[in-house]
Amino acid sequence: MLDPARGSFASRHEFAGFRRRFLITVLGAATAWTAVMVAASTMGWLSVGPLQTYNNIAFFCLTLGLLIMVWRWPGTTGPAAIAFCTGGLCLIGAALFLVPEDPLRMLLFFPGIGVIFLLLGARAAWAATAVAIVAFCTAVAGGYIATTATGVSTFIISLFFTGLFFHAFRIQSVRALETVAAQNKALDEAARRDPLTSLPNLRAFRNAVEAETTAPNGGAPLAIAFVDVDFFKAINDRYGHAEGDAVLIAVAGALRRALRAGDTVARIGGEEFAVLLPATDIATAMVVAERLRAAVQATAVTIAGEITSVTVSVGVAPSRPPHATADAVLRAADLAMYAAKAQGRNRVIPAPAAA
Ligand code: GH3
Ligand code: MG
Ligand code: MG
Repeated sequence: MLDPARGSFASRHEFAGFRRRFLITVLGAATAWTAVMVAASTMGWLSVGPLQTYNNIAFFCLTLGLLIMVWRWPGTTGPAAIAFCTGGLCLIGAALFLVPEDPLRMLLFFPGIGVIFLLLGARAAWAATAVAIVAFCTAVAGGYIATTATGVSTFIISLFFTGLFFHAFRIQSVRALETVAAQNKALDEAARRDPLTSLPNLRAFRNAVEAETTAPNGGAPLAIAFVDVDFFKAINDRYGHAEGDAVLIAVAGALRRALRAGDTVARIGGEEFAVLLPATDIATAMVVAERLRAAVQATAVTIAGEITSVTVSVGVAPSRPPHATADAVLRAADLAMYAAKAQGRNRVIPAPAAA
């Protein structure tokens, strides 16, 4: 019903969930309504013939069948729905030709068209509308339905406007679902990003590490670099928070530009960044980390109108399968970063086990 290929849904799974809940609500209501119709006609509360009662039962079975199908086997909705809808229309059509003295049963076409609009889409529903009109006109012309010219035009106009109503309802419903899905996607995206630098945040970084360590090729070693800006508090204290923010943006840009495709850099704290280096041994990771350190130092940073530069201290920790948690590897890299601070800053130090 909704097209996940149009990109409005974060995933096919999310799309399927939306559609399933939507259809269950609509079909639940239709089933309840047809159940009332069955009860009313079998209890004699309606002045209907036995074949219309049979028609009501058929329509109840149709909606209940669709409801069970969408509930239990959401993946098979398409072909099964076509079979159910076609079968249902045939039942209604058969009753139409069998009970000429009871034109009321034509009303059953209306909810039928609605279900087709919601289940199979506009094209199938308009085709069914055309079939219903042709069937009705044929029945009238063949003398199976006794009605006037006004009766014929009333039926055609009513069915046409029912189609328009369901078409508009379907369009608006799809739009509403897509808007909610797009907003969810934007919120999800915002929850994974640091607003200052637009880099992924700690949460997204943990997810990225998890994705690497649990991937099918999760047998590969990886490394995490912990990057901390040197004497950053002094910049804040001397020039103010806004200048400090500009420095953080410059450092983030320098790190991002110096990284290889496939590596991930995240801002995980105030002036702290973490870098995930997938499928990288410790020796290569030390080379990459040194390149990052040099890239930050070589980046011109404007503080209070003056061009200068800042430095970073970097700790590097490796992880081999079976991988430890992201937090454990980050902690090891953090400790190595503290060693880099202790040894004079502006340097790269590996975690003790990897030294
Ligand atoms: P060291 O070389 O030992 O790392 O010294 P440092 O001054 O960088 O370390 P410290 O952890 O004492 O200072 C970090 C500062 O970062 C303190 C805090 O005010 C500042 N900070 C944290 N978040 C932000 C932020 O979003 N913007 C700015 N401008 N400053 C921040
Ligand atoms: Mg710090
Ligand atoms: Mg610092």
